[in-house]
Amino acid sequence: MLSLIDVSRRFANGVEALADVSLDIAAGDFVALLGPSGCGKSTLLRLIAGLDVPDRGSLAWRDGLPQPGMLGYVFQDATLLPWASAAENVFLPLRLRGIAWSEAALRVAAALAQVGLSGFANARPHELSGGMRMRVSIARALVSRPRVLLMDEPFAALDEFTRHKLQEDLLALWRELGCTIVFVTHSLYEAAFLARRIVLMSPQPGRIVHDIASVVPFGAEARLDPAYAALVADITRHLRAAA
Ligand code: ADP
Repeated sequence: MLSLIDVSRRFANGVEALADVSLDIAAGDFVALLGPSGCGKSTLLRLIAGLDVPDRGSLAWRDGLPQPGMLGYVFQDATLLPWASAAENVFLPLRLRGIAWSEAALRVAAALAQVGLSGFANARPHELSGGMRMRVSIARALVSRPRVLLMDEPFAALDEFTRHKLQEDLLALWRELGCTIVFVTHSLYEAAFLARRIVLMSPQPGRIVHDIASVVPFGAEARLDPAYAALVADITRHLRAAA
């Protein structure tokens, strides 16, 4: 679906965030970009989103540049409008594209249902827990029915219990929707649980050092599966070797 070819990005302050990154992402895959803080994961995600451009190298989308709404982006902070209800927050990207509420209402309700928040359409962000706010943020990305979901450490600020539940629900959602997910994380446990493919990055400049296919089964029980433990060990070995 997308090929990055020898992509490099150096910022005006001289920081070389990415060097010669080449990566093919297949439609429908769940790819984790994993590495320590500052290794260029967010920079790579921003390049994929078209929010930034490389200094060298290129990005090639097989079916041409994504149309508006085809890419969904989820940030670490839920970034909701505090005065607006959950439904109004989810409606926002459609409203910005000139779609009327009468046309959008069913889609907004469906997106809230997909993240398990059907009963909270009228709740304001301050009435929701951190995990629920992140669910609203994911629903806001899903309401445009994106083919690609780009997620930048969306669960990093959540407690471990909430985080596990959201990871499990995201995996179920990905399987249901069949979209492509590129998920940035610095947690190897998160990457090992979620992704079908783990792209390991080393810092300064960010480079891809390993690309690991996962055979970990789906579902909450996977955390207890030997394949999960083996993958965590494998990633740990690679990270040590790269350090
Ligand atoms: P990660 O997401 O892996 O934590 P980032 O992609 O955010 O890493 O950043 C990679 C490096 O590029 C860091 O050293 C960061 O300080 C630097 N950087 C990121 N964005 C900018 C920018 N707009 N201007 C200058 N330096 C930046």
